[in-house]
Amino acid sequence: MTTKIELSVPFVDLTEQYALLKDEIDAAIAPIFSAADFVLGRPVQEFERSFAAYCGSRFCISVHSGTAALHLALLALDVGPGDEVITATNSFIATAEAISFCGATPRLVDVDPHTYNLDPAQVEMAINKHTKALLPVHLYGQPADMHAVLDIAKQHGLSVVEDACQAHGALYKGAKVGSLGDIGCFSFYPGKNLGTAGDGGAIVTNDESLARKMRLLRNHGSEERYKHEIIGHNFRLDNLQAAILSVKLKYLDEWNQKRQRLAASYTAQLKSIPGVITPRVSQDSSHIFHLYVVQVEDRAKLQAAFAAQGVGSGIHYPVPIHLQQAYKQLDLGPGSFPTSEALMNKILSLPIFPELKDEQQKKVIDIVQSVARAESWKKSKGN
Ligand SMILES: *Cc1c(COP(=O)(O)O)cnc(C)c1O
Repeated sequence: MTTKIELSVPFVDLTEQYALLKDEIDAAIAPIFSAADFVLGRPVQEFERSFAAYCGSRFCISVHSGTAALHLALLALDVGPGDEVITATNSFIATAEAISFCGATPRLVDVDPHTYNLDPAQVEMAINKHTKALLPVHLYGQPADMHAVLDIAKQHGLSVVEDACQAHGALYKGAKVGSLGDIGCFSFYPGKNLGTAGDGGAIVTNDESLARKMRLLRNHGSEERYKHEIIGHNFRLDNLQAAILSVKLKYLDEWNQKRQRLAASYTAQLKSIPGVITPRVSQDSSHIFHLYVVQVEDRAKLQAAFAAQGVGSGIHYPVPIHLQQAYKQLDLGPGSFPTSEALMNKILSLPIFPELKDEQQKKVIDIVQSVARAESWKKSKGN
């Protein structure tokens, strides 16, 4: 019996990238092992310098995760018990956790139905005397409406922390995300557009005193060994991860462009299929497609067809933060945020990563087409 070898399409595959970079990465990490110098050394300083420059920010403080970056940023702004921080309910839970771990309360709001990012009108309505900061998320790699967010913050005297954990290198009106608010936070979780070999994160800011405070908080409140100015923590990124990030940072723009080309090709071929809504890209920003998310008429059917034919897919995220068990104390039941709740049943993330091959992408598109036809999906209002 002859069997045709099926082309599988993983949701994300990092192995090819490693094969391409192996020599460079080996050369970058070998001296660290040889010197047995693993913590807060030159590789960390070098990565911080280059990532600050990349973001167009004056300072970068590297940390051990995106969650740590958000937590540290809010601590540096003195967010604490009694305070509220406004953020979007359709984010990864880390955004809210960082607020909670400062002792403050996440004040969740709904999102724009087209961009899936924080709706400025709802932000405005959520402000009260407890509001301390705004925490816009650049979801899926598309900048939030920062003009409106910064305007609202200015009017009400609030700080702005950007959750740029999915948006390394995305531009908003020509400026890199992360550099727009008071503090920008990034994750280098392996699957992010810039990812390391484990966990990592970074904070960028133009504010020198905030930078110093975050640097102290990251390392036990200390600049000089065994002299502790404030009570800090251990939030450090290690030298091995920093060295790997420095290698990869040089490729980030090229990888983002590949993602953008793949996204454009998905959209060109999917947008006319009935029952499929493709992502809308705002005029004044660039979307770097950490995730390529469509809305579909019958997600379960499509996911089953994908699974049967070896195609990966994901849902980001299946349950908004306000409906998570962990946040039941917020007392926000179903019906609180209609846009996010409607989206959670329709959104589907398709495979996208720089090394995705044309024939793999074609297979994904063919399956969407055949399911839509077989199920007679109806024409949907476009995005
Ligand atoms: C990944 C992510 C985080 C958390 O980053 P970690 O490095 O996994 O801690 C926070 N917010 C968003 C939007 C993310 O996608």
